[in-house]
Amino acid sequence: MSRFTLEQQRVLFPKLSERDIESLLPIGAERDFAAGTVIQDWDTPSPGVFVVLRGKVELLGSTNQIETLLELFERGNFSGELNQLSGRKSLVRYRAAEECTILEIQRQALHARLEGDPVLGNLLLSCFMTRRNYLIADSIGDAVLIGPNNSRDTLRLRTFLGRNGHPYAFLDADTDESVKALLLQFSIKPSELPVLICRGSIVLRNPSNQEAASFFDLNARIEENKIFDLIVVGAGPAGLASAVYAASEGLAVLVLESNAVGGQAGSSSRIENYLGFPLGISGQELAERAYVQAQKFGAQVLISQGACALACTEAPYRVKLDDETRVTARTLIVASGSRYRKLEVANADRFEGQGIYYGATAIESTFCIDEDIIVVGGGNSAGQAAVFLSERAQHVYLLVRGPDLGSSMSQYLIPRIDASPKITLQTRSEILGSTGSSILNACGGATGERGSNTTMRSGMFSS
Ligand SMILES: Cc1cc2nc3c(=O)[nH]c(=O)nc-3n(C[C@H](O)[C@H](O)[C@H](O)COP(=O)(O)OP(=O)(O)OC[C@H]3O[C@@H](n4cnc5c(N)ncnc54)[C@H](O)[C@@H]3O)c2cc1C
Repeated sequence: MSRFTLEQQRVLFPKLSERDIESLLPIGAERDFAAGTVIQDWDTPSPGVFVVLRGKVELLGSTNQIETLLELFERGNFSGELNQLSGRKSLVRYRAAEECTILEIQRQALHARLEGDPVLGNLLLSCFMTRRNYLIADSIGDAVLIGPNNSRDTLRLRTFLGRNGHPYAFLDADTDESVKALLLQFSIKPSELPVLICRGSIVLRNPSNQEAASFFDLNARIEENKIFDLIVVGAGPAGLASAVYAASEGLAVLVLESNAVGGQAGSSSRIENYLGFPLGISGQELAERAYVQAQKFGAQVLISQGACALACTEAPYRVKLDDETRVTARTLIVASGSRYRKLEVANADRFEGQGIYYGATAIESTFCIDEDIIVVGGGNSAGQAAVFLSERAQHVYLLVRGPDLGSSMSQYLIPRIDASPKITLQTRSEILGSTGSSILNACGGATGERGSNTTMRSGMFSS
C-alpha cells in the first residue's frame, strides 16, 4: 500500500500519457533490468531521467540509514527531481521490483524537451519541485546536521543547506537525547560540533560552506576549457534574472555564487513588492524558483564558489574562483550586490548567530519563540522582520534612530506596525552595547526621547 494519499500520488508521481511516452521514445534509450537490480543509486550522479515502460520499479528513500519504500513506479511513472536538472548526485535509489524496461533520457535531451514542449515541460518541472519540497519536509536524503542550536556555525550550515534547498535533518546537541549516542558512535567531541553525517558513515566536522557544497555535490560539473558566452558573478535576484534571460536566448551561461542562491533576498521572510506576486513571496521561494528557471534553460550554477579575480584586459575574459579554478567567458555580468552594515557596538561580533542575527527567515524565527526581541532599523527589511517575527515572539521592540518610520519604510508596512499590539516602535533610540556569556543576554541602549540610558534583556534581531 502506498504511504501517500491519492492526491499526493497525483501530484508527486503523475503518469505520462501514452501520447507523451510515444513522443519521448525517439529521444531516449530503452534498457532492461532484472528484478532486484539497482537502476539509479543514491550518491551517484544521474545521467538524466527515465520513464518506466514495463514492469515495476521501487523508489527508495533513506532516513537514519533505514531504507524506505516511498513508491512503486509503473508504466508512465518517471524518475527525477531537481538534482537531475544539473546532473548532481541522486538523493534516492531506484531498484527494479521485477523484470522491467525503462526509457532513459539524457540530460541534454531532457533540457531540449523541457524547452520544446511547454506542457510536458511544466508537468516535469512542477513535479521535480514538489518532489524536492517533499524530500526537504521529510528530511529524506540521509544527511544529518548535529550541533548546538545556539551556535554560529550551526546557524551558518542550516542557512546554507536551507537556502540551497538541500534536504537534511537537524538534531539539537543541547536538547536532543539521541545525540549523545550518535556522537559516541562516531567519536565526536562536543568541541568538534557542528558535524554533518551522511548515510551513517561520512562525518564532516564543522565544515566550511564550500566543503558542505562539495560533500553534497551541490555544484554543476564544468567542462574544462569551455568558453562560456556569459559568466554572471552573484546569484542574487539580479544575477539569477540575468542568467534566466541569457540562457533562454540559448547562450551558454555560468553563474558563480560565493554563498547561497538568493542573495540578500534569500533572507527575507516576505517580499510583497516584487512584480507578479500580489500575495507576496518569501525570499527563499523566489530564489528557488529563479534557480530552477535558470537551470531549466541550461544555465550552470556554482555554489559557494566566489569569483576572487577577474582578468578583463582582453577577451575572452578570465575569472579565477576561490578554489583556484579558472573559467572563461566572452561577457561578464557582475551582480555581486551590496553588503549591509552590521551593528557597530562592542561584542556584537561575538554574539552573531548567538543572539544577534542578520536575517528573518523561518530559521531565525525559531530563536524568537516567546521571547522579547529587538529589531534594529527603520527600512523595509526591518519592518518585514518585525511583522513576521511578531507572530512567534512574545513582543517585538522596533528601534530606529530617527523620529519616525516615514522617511525610510514603505507605506504598506507602517500601518501594520502601528496596528500590531505585539510591536512597540521606539524612535530616537540606539543600541549602545551588548552583554552575555555564551549567548546574548542583554543590550544597553539610549533613547533620546527619554534622554536616558535603558537596558533591555532580550534576544536581538538586527537588520
Ligand atoms: C531581510 C531583507 C528583506 C528585503 N525585503 C525586500 C523587499 O521586500 N522588497 C525589495 O524590493 N527588496 C527587499 N530587500 C532588498 C533586496 O533583497 C535586494 O535589493 C536584492 O536582493 C538585490 O539583489 P542583487 O542580486 O543585486 O544583490 P544581492 O541580493 O546582494 O546578491 C548578490 C549575490 O552576489 C554574491 N556575491 C558577492 N560577491 C561575490 C563574488 N565575488 N563571487 C560570487 N558571488 C558573489 C553574494 O553572495 C550574493 O548572493 C530585502 C533585503 C533584505 C536583506
